[in-house]
Amino acid sequence: MFYLLNIFIQMKVLLNNTSLFESLRPFNDRGFVPTMGGIHNGHLSLINKSNKLCEKTIVSIFVNPKQFNNKKDLKSYPRNIKKDLKILKKSKKVDFVYLPKFKEIYKDKKKSKITLHKKDKILCANFRKGHFEGVLDVMNRLTKIINPQKIFMGEKDFQQLYLVKKQLEKKYKTKVIACKTIRNKNKVALSSRNFLLNKSNLVMAAKIYAKLESIKKNIKNKKNIPNFLNFQKKELKNTYKIKIDYLELRNIKNLKISSTKKNSRLFIAYYLNNVRLIDNL
Ligand code: AMP
Repeated sequence: MFYLLNIFIQMKVLLNNTSLFESLRPFNDRGFVPTMGGIHNGHLSLINKSNKLCEKTIVSIFVNPKQFNNKKDLKSYPRNIKKDLKILKKSKKVDFVYLPKFKEIYKDKKKSKITLHKKDKILCANFRKGHFEGVLDVMNRLTKIINPQKIFMGEKDFQQLYLVKKQLEKKYKTKVIACKTIRNKNKVALSSRNFLLNKSNLVMAAKIYAKLESIKKNIKNKKNIPNFLNFQKKELKNTYKIKIDYLELRNIKNLKISSTKKNSRLFIAYYLNNVRLIDNL
């Protein structure tokens, strides 16, 4: 009984900005974990970190339509608020869950002029037009509303983390904290989109990850890395009959194409069962 009472006391659900402002006012040391729901252990790792480093942890669940460049993708994005709330409550690490409606976030009609630099129009920005403009816009708005001291984001979405960190830390007194990618037992990166995959898709994702690891290992002997990766991309395409948007080695400090393994990661975006997956290692 006490146990049950405890989980209810521990987490407050905030449905609008008025209750959010009121509830957060007494607390300055706010850790913020923005999500689009479909809560999994990747999200929970961010939450754990926030819980350790901050006085209060606020998780938002908001499927931001403005960052979807494809209507079908937005429609099929996994949504299960009831299940999400249950998982978050059970974690006992969340103080507040913010579930805003669209108008709550976009009330402020002022068009925030967000344009990507030419040099940033790479990787996902090149294949999902308008996506990061939507991400940066919503992160700007959420940061203004929540005013967090720290924001926790995953390295799984490395380019997102890179762009959001660059923008928000310049504009606000907030620090964006990078969190490691959490993987399943077969090393497939956890993602809400994995809920749209079947067992055999997941087996294939595991095989693709194993292949990526071996590609990364072999990179160091290669003279012309882009050529080598082009060849590997074709081989992956043919072996698994998948569409691949990119397979590139990039420097983690500036995301420029890299000609050395040092300070670099291998970035991939590909489709399984019409679901677009991204990873980096
Ligand atoms: P999403 O709900 O997919 O928008 O993700 C919300 C946050 O969780 C983002 O900062 C993601 O980078 C992060 N995240 C998603 N998957 C993982 C994962 N497997 N490991 C660590 N962080 C993740």
